[in-house]
Amino acid sequence: MRKFNVAIDGWSSCGKSTLAKELARKLHFVYVDSGAMYRTITLYALRHSMITDGKVNVDQLVAHLGNIKITFLFNRSKGFSDTFLNGENVEEEIREMAVSSHVSEVSRIREVREKLRALQQSLGKGKGVVMDGRDIGTAIFPGAELKFFMTASKEVRARRRYEELLRKNRNVTLKEVAENLKQRDRIDSTRKESPLRQPHDAIVIDNTFLTHEEQLNLAMRYAISRIGIEKED
Ligand code: C5P
Repeated sequence: MRKFNVAIDGWSSCGKSTLAKELARKLHFVYVDSGAMYRTITLYALRHSMITDGKVNVDQLVAHLGNIKITFLFNRSKGFSDTFLNGENVEEEIREMAVSSHVSEVSRIREVREKLRALQQSLGKGKGVVMDGRDIGTAIFPGAELKFFMTASKEVRARRRYEELLRKNRNVTLKEVAENLKQRDRIDSTRKESPLRQPHDAIVIDNTFLTHEEQLNLAMRYAISRIGIEKED
């Protein structure tokens, strides 16, 4: 199959990663979770006491960026990659609320974004990548052949994320989750450095009332009509 890049952006907890993983599997492409990279840098900052009372010590973190190595290793049993911080598997830890609560503050930092932009663009150089995030279709792959912008109602997003965290035995309330999503959306869409924006050429998918399967079928229909890839069984 012809290789191209797929950029998936949208609000927090809109099902971007679910669609991105399923689409990558269907197309035999590589899924890249750009949010995991921002989460990994946030975890490093937390572990090194660079965040106090919600404030990031920007100078200190920037001075340490060269010591942060983010890598991915395909996990066969899950069907996608785990995230590693300096060789340690942090895939579970970066999904904790402690990280979610501070990641948007870390993501505002220009030097952090520059470091990750270089990494993300290098991963997409050979094409055949499905990447999700907040600035993929606007800043990372503005020329991506296929772009989606995902949205869903606030209530549905909070409930889905809450249920996901409950399944992982995380101790959170629905109110805390809803508040975190609201706060991240606000910071992500109002920051100076590559804020979350709907790319002008993106296809909007509102999945408030869609199942995973319906969402995937819809995205595949767009891939077939826009890119001209052949229909698979
Ligand atoms: O996708 P996920 O919710 O894991 O992303 C976590 C956070 O990382 C976002 O709320 C945002 O602050 C940041 N992010 C970003 N740009 C991206 C991907 C994620 O700023 N491309």
